[in-house]
Amino acid sequence: MKQILFINPTINNTVFGKMKMLALPPMGLGVLASRTPEHYKVSIIDENLEAVDFNTPADLVAVTATTGQAPRAYQIIQEFIKRGVPTIMGGIHASVMTEEAVRFADSVAVGEADELWPVIVKDFEEGKMKKIYRAEAFPSLEKIPKINRKLFSKKYMIHSVQTSRGCPCNCSFCSVTRFNGARYRFRSIPDVIEEIEEIEDRRFFIADDSIVGLGPEGIDHAKRLFKSLKGLGKSWGSQVCITIAEHDDLLKAAAEAGANTFYIGFESIEAESLKSVNKNVNLRPMIKNYKNTIRKFHDHGIGVIGGFILGTDGDTKEIFDKTIEFIHETGIDGSQFTIMTPFPGTRLYSQVEKEGRLLFTNYPEDWVKYNAYEAVIQPRNMTIDELVAGWRNVYSETSSPVRSLRRSLKTLMNTGSVVNASINLFWNYYNYKAVRDSGMNIDAPL
Ligand code: SF4
Repeated sequence: MKQILFINPTINNTVFGKMKMLALPPMGLGVLASRTPEHYKVSIIDENLEAVDFNTPADLVAVTATTGQAPRAYQIIQEFIKRGVPTIMGGIHASVMTEEAVRFADSVAVGEADELWPVIVKDFEEGKMKKIYRAEAFPSLEKIPKINRKLFSKKYMIHSVQTSRGCPCNCSFCSVTRFNGARYRFRSIPDVIEEIEEIEDRRFFIADDSIVGLGPEGIDHAKRLFKSLKGLGKSWGSQVCITIAEHDDLLKAAAEAGANTFYIGFESIEAESLKSVNKNVNLRPMIKNYKNTIRKFHDHGIGVIGGFILGTDGDTKEIFDKTIEFIHETGIDGSQFTIMTPFPGTRLYSQVEKEGRLLFTNYPEDWVKYNAYEAVIQPRNMTIDELVAGWRNVYSETSSPVRSLRRSLKTLMNTGSVVNASINLFWNYYNYKAVRDSGMNIDAPL
């Protein structure tokens, strides 16, 4: 039986690479594996969890990569090519840097490869793989095959499920609108529920870009999903757009359906900074008062992990202290702080490239620095040293062991949930630990 090996390369220099337990299963590879004809043996190797054995018998190797993973993806591909194994690369990076990727891989898949994959496998069987395959349109998710979860390592702490793709917001730093389209596409809810019921654990994570879309269609999808989840006895988290807080009935339905924690891209506490990256959706009247908005989630017993970007063009040196104060004042449960990073293919990249602010352009090697935990552009209103020191200090002042513990006790008070308190203690501390262990001294006195 011929074998296809799917590989997710390591991304060692980020929180998720360092803290292996925070890694999520590579859903995209799971989808392609499920679309592979049955006469193939398929395996998924996640290098974040286990080493790649280059001598594993394989007839075809398919590698996915985000930008930070790309240099490692190219190394992996070269190792297999040396051994005479045909390779194909896909994912966001290869989709935007296609000319670069074809220099390394035998073939490149551009865009969401769901419907391309059977064509690619057929061409492989016939010995006529093309150099580049391009998805002509965003595939419908209505009849997406069920993922075979047995293919994922047992080392993941949590399973994930996808219910939709796409986002219309087109924030300047984000690749989602370009890679997954500006229209929300949804999976059929019975399919999603069937997949969730097969997850043995009680807990799982919904890895959508946002579980609630902006328009009526997205809201209706979320309502039907929450209704179907209710009664399953599951406890789950999800990424979600902050706009869900405009709908009290949705928050209530999410809580009744088992929602415990939402990861929300707050990005910044300053309106100027949000405008500078086109995250205008966070400035809508009913949600722009973040403190009140966070309270709404707490009122329903749901914890909030906020994603914050530091070093945007709207940020001044004051942003660090203001962010620390915000974290403590609002009682936001978890937090993740990244450094403004222009990923290729985004409008932000074109902007900073035109302005001559890119600090590392020896590609592809330098892509490894594009991981959102290193400064790769000249900030507009501060020096690079001020940005990095400020970022470290925010971690130190909000997520050190003692701070993490205090915040988790606050979560217990605010949401009444031991599960939420534990999730956020774990999340904050391990994010802090990853940054600390990466050699950056963030042990400022408490
Ligand atoms: S950051 Fe979030 S809201 Fe903005 S485009 Fe990306 S997925 Fe959409």
